[in-house]
Amino acid sequence: MSAPHTASSSAVLTELHRRWLAALEPELPGALQLRRQVHADPHLSGLEEPTAQVVEAALGVPMEPVALTGRAGRVGPPEGPSVLLRAELDALPVREATGVSFAAQSGRMHACGHDVHLAALVAVVRAAAHLDLPLGLVPLLQPREETYPSGAQDVVASGLLAREQAVAAIGAHVHPGVPPGQVATGAGVVNAAADEIEIVLTGNGGHGAYPHRATDPVSALGHIVLGLPEVVRRTVSPMHPAAVSVGHVQAGEASANVLPSEARLLATMRTTDARDRAVVPEQVRKLAEHQAKAFGVVAEVRITAGEPVLYNDPDLVDLVDAWLEHAGLEPTEPMRSLGADDFSFFGEVVPSVMCFVGVRVAGHDEEPPQLHHPRFLPVDDAVGDVARALIAGYLAAVELHQR
Ligand SMILES: [Zn+2]
Repeated sequence: MSAPHTASSSAVLTELHRRWLAALEPELPGALQLRRQVHADPHLSGLEEPTAQVVEAALGVPMEPVALTGRAGRVGPPEGPSVLLRAELDALPVREATGVSFAAQSGRMHACGHDVHLAALVAVVRAAAHLDLPLGLVPLLQPREETYPSGAQDVVASGLLAREQAVAAIGAHVHPGVPPGQVATGAGVVNAAADEIEIVLTGNGGHGAYPHRATDPVSALGHIVLGLPEVVRRTVSPMHPAAVSVGHVQAGEASANVLPSEARLLATMRTTDARDRAVVPEQVRKLAEHQAKAFGVVAEVRITAGEPVLYNDPDLVDLVDAWLEHAGLEPTEPMRSLGADDFSFFGEVVPSVMCFVGVRVAGHDEEPPQLHHPRFLPVDDAVGDVARALIAGYLAAVELHQR
């Protein structure tokens, strides 16, 4: 049995939800226009100012700059606790191949659906204009999701969440792997922590005909590359998802008979457990240094910390799922992967949920192009579904706060 207070406040929220969804409908045509305008003129990470200006104007609420090219605002009660709703501003260096009338011509593309997220957030905020929101709603236009330094990390460092007394953060991301009409939330870890490993090996080099007189960083590098999966296998429990993948190796010039004096690799490290995240780099360092020693070269290992684990708060997830159903969307299996999203920086500060919203890609019902693909273009319905997911997140955060 719920207490009378809970019963009445849930009735208030249910009525708010009904009115919000009703107010959303007339906002959607304008949001679709905005989506096309933003899609046609994409801007890369760190250079999002033109997009921020267009979206800020469409929002129609006062916004403050944050994290250089980002914006944050507030609607509802001007003081007290708030819920942060995040949309990303940046596009990718991808040459668009969708062929639609509003396709970008610049060699840059909104191939990750951020145009949809921005339009949805605008519709949500505009629809809330005449509603009595119980907590502040902080729309965040976040820069630099796709590159470092992470925009989310900079937003957290700016003190925005503390200033606005944020009690939760909600993100929604379109996903072609989720059926349309469904939304994947899922309690616990849904994305990995992503860190970068750089190994530089320095030797003397020499003549390829006299390798016995040289110290050869190439051989050492080869052994290290092959040893990295073994480090993971011997360090991380097989019950914990983790991976180290080498994405770049480089040594010498285009010459067959010169042994170079330097070799370098870059690898990404994905972990889902805090201990693993701390221990794997130590073991990578050990492997690199000892292999280098065996080959008579010197290893330098640098680890650059990236996104933390993306963790969906279990209590918040339950509440979000209920509001999603209430909006006619079907909560479905979590989208767990070793991918990373810098939304996870917010989850380190406040309870958060990332909703992966199922979308249809026109003309690709069988095998839709994946995120970051030159033909990834969710249909217009995606804007409304992302908006409904953000509203579900806001209401869930209010409920969690009122408990
Ligand atoms: Zn994205």
